[in-house]
Amino acid sequence: MLGQFLSPLINTRDDGYGGNTHNRLRFVMEVLDAVRAAVGPDFVVGMRLTADELLKGGMDAAECIQIARAIAETGQLDFFNLLAGAPYDDLGLAGWIPPMGMPSAAHLSIVGGLKEAVDLPVLHAGGIADIATARHAVSSGLLDMVGMTRAQIADPYLVQKLAAGNEDSVRPCVGMGYCVDRVNQGKDALCGHNPATGREQQMSHVIARDTELQPQRW
Ligand code: SF4
Repeated sequence: MLGQFLSPLINTRDDGYGGNTHNRLRFVMEVLDAVRAAVGPDFVVGMRLTADELLKGGMDAAECIQIARAIAETGQLDFFNLLAGAPYDDLGLAGWIPPMGMPSAAHLSIVGGLKEAVDLPVLHAGGIADIATARHAVSSGLLDMVGMTRAQIADPYLVQKLAAGNEDSVRPCVGMGYCVDRVNQGKDALCGHNPATGREQQMSHVIARDTELQPQRW
């Protein structure tokens, strides 16, 4: 809803909450003030924001930078959760949660451009499914943090394996979208690439090697 107030494609109000960038930001600022007042100064608050709606008539990169700077200057926010595009139709939504047919990490440079312009930590989630890409994004200074939701649906032990030096054994998210389709239907987020996900009470993610089994001859 905050994004809809910000976007000139959606927000056609002609009162103090619509029209120019300042007015479209008003509702966001009021919500941010209320959230900070409710949680106090020590609670970490982040905000998801597009870095460029990538649509004719929508917020471009320059306006998104203007908005992000204004939000950062309030001192009420601890980090941005940035992405690019706009989820107003199926193609826009696919850009936010890219399925296997879409490019990997397609919005990294756009998000990195906004990060350059604001003095707050930046997280980006959207189509970064593997550790090598995440490592590149952070080490090259494009991001401070990478959000990897589906990657951890496919392998909830991703971080543990990385910390233990077992990166090669991470079960990769292949972007088939089975989890997303189910969630959008109000069902639990099962994974087409990991049968244990969402079935942890019946099936463990960690399976001990069976020492009784002998190698099969085929
Ligand atoms: S179902 Fe599993 S592999 Fe497919 S997109 Fe979701 S997490 Fe990734």
